[in-house]
Amino acid sequence: MLRKDRYKDFVDYFSSHQPEAETELKYENPYQLLVAVILSAQCTDKRINQVTPKLFEHFPTPESLAKSSSEHVFEYIRSVSYPNNKAKHLVGMAKKLVDNFNGIVPSSIEDLQTMPGVGRKTANVIASVIFNAPAMAVDTHVFRVSNRIGLTRNAKTPLAVEKQLVEFLPKEKIHIAHHWLILHGRYVCLARSPKCTSCQLAHICKYYAQSQTEGALRKVENIQLKKSRELKKKQQAKKIAVKLKKFE
Ligand code: SF4
Repeated sequence: MLRKDRYKDFVDYFSSHQPEAETELKYENPYQLLVAVILSAQCTDKRINQVTPKLFEHFPTPESLAKSSSEHVFEYIRSVSYPNNKAKHLVGMAKKLVDNFNGIVPSSIEDLQTMPGVGRKTANVIASVIFNAPAMAVDTHVFRVSNRIGLTRNAKTPLAVEKQLVEFLPKEKIHIAHHWLILHGRYVCLARSPKCTSCQLAHICKYYAQSQTEGALRKVENIQLKKSRELKKKQQAKKIAVKLKKFE
């Protein structure tokens, strides 16, 4: 299957089955999404959604967060992963947002990355979710699923995956394809045991085709092994029969 056909089927399938895909993080404005995405690094969206309501209640604006201390913020996010670092990042980010951008979340990926705690992935999420920019944030799900399906080839780093997806996806679909890949990775194409038998993308998936071929080869090998064992048994039985005849 050609890569362009694989992309076409992928986009067609999700466009008709999941045209409204969006982030599972709960937020009401760009500032809140920025906070939630910084917190979500190496943590689940479910956990983040548990801590953000109180956090946003106490720090409703970038200004209120900028005036706080990381120790104070820590109290609200202690149950997420790496709370110390994230508390520092949040206060640093808020200060930068207030000082350099008048408290308004910028749309440029370069500007976003000047803030503490905001790497390329976070900047791409903000640019695509808030501003519908054709930016692809590559997390562990996007990385795994796009490699398995065969949307990417020999892409060993998140940046390589990002570049290939941005190159081959239709520009207007890039921001939503990010959610398609994440949701598919979270609920169907699981890291340890992908649900291939119920996956609607199996017909275009390289990983699935490979596993089918390997499975078929294993079956053939097992049959051959069984046959050779039976042959050996027969030969041994024959030898024994010949020996017994000599003693008669
Ligand atoms: S067929 Fe399996 S490996 Fe391929 S996308 Fe579906 S769940 Fe993932």
